[in-house]
Amino acid sequence: MRTLRNTIFPDLKCQEHGIYDVWPCPWPECRNGIPEDSFRVESLMEGEEPEVYSRRQWKTLSGDPYFSWDSAKLPNWFSLPRVVWNEARRQGLVDTGFPDLIYHYTSVEGFFGIVQSGQLWLSDYSYLNDTRELSHGADLVAEVATELLVNESRPQATDLLRQWITELQSPVHRVCVASFSGSGDSLSQWRAYGHIAIGFEPRDVSLHAYRANLRPVEYQRDRQRALVDLYLHHMREAYLVDSDNGRLERIEDVYHKTDRLVELIAFFKDPAFAAEQEYRLAFIEHPDLMPSLGHKCSAKRFRVSRGRIIPYVLSDELEPILPSGRDLKIREVILGPGTDATLERGIREFLTESNMREVEVKRTRVPYRT
Ligand SMILES: [Zn+2]
Repeated sequence: MRTLRNTIFPDLKCQEHGIYDVWPCPWPECRNGIPEDSFRVESLMEGEEPEVYSRRQWKTLSGDPYFSWDSAKLPNWFSLPRVVWNEARRQGLVDTGFPDLIYHYTSVEGFFGIVQSGQLWLSDYSYLNDTRELSHGADLVAEVATELLVNESRPQATDLLRQWITELQSPVHRVCVASFSGSGDSLSQWRAYGHIAIGFEPRDVSLHAYRANLRPVEYQRDRQRALVDLYLHHMREAYLVDSDNGRLERIEDVYHKTDRLVELIAFFKDPAFAAEQEYRLAFIEHPDLMPSLGHKCSAKRFRVSRGRIIPYVLSDELEPILPSGRDLKIREVILGPGTDATLERGIREFLTESNMREVEVKRTRVPYRT
């Protein structure tokens, strides 16, 4: 059996099948895949047995096949987001192109903290202004789950769907996000978030914060609906496969939690906000999942912002059991309206001392009107 090198960093492996993964394309006879139906991978953890992955076929709601690599060691729940997003890309339900740079708008204090720590700060979503967004997605999930219940024939799956509907009414997750904009010089962003826009390459952000998800926010209602359809259907299938194969004995109720659903709806926003072109880095933690597996939760930190105390996590402290990502690379800094030459001088000197002399510092072109 072929042995593949283990890596934690995914890449676009197959355009045709939408595969953005660490493994080759899982579609049979694809030129970006492998001919064999299984392969082996050395474990990243010392002393652990190699893992074997096998090709698995799934069926969409309309009966079309799609494929994934399935490691028999863990329930399919763990690879589920990767599989579903690959299929969503193949179906054209997500934009695959990112702009060259995405910008994080922040205050001078926020900029200072990010450069000094070399980390992104993901703030607790429930402390941000637009908390109604999660309920927007939760309502959509409840609607789709209710429809699925009508034709559900497996009692186990009926329980699962009902549980999701109930649980999503009062989510218990810690959802932490950092927001980016596709535009580096936007007056509405300057007004809402602060005087500094830090430009990053999307891939740098993904490789640095690989334990969180970086995605464009979805504003279109029909695409949100299609994604929820795909997600719920796939979760139901994965649950039945795992319970039929006895893979849920160690962590039996993982599917009955709503982590995966919250991961999805954390990227939905009301169509009224579409002009923001937001890209969002989101991390979702269930308060009792990691402890139940014997692992620590991500460290909770606090910052003061606009007279409030906001909990946040550092990008390098997400799921501490996993190895660190790549160093965070800043490509550009844009200073917004109302900033002056003294701030610019301080920023340049601070960047130089922080070994980031090459970062370009620019001033906004937007005229400031109050
Ligand atoms: Zn392929």
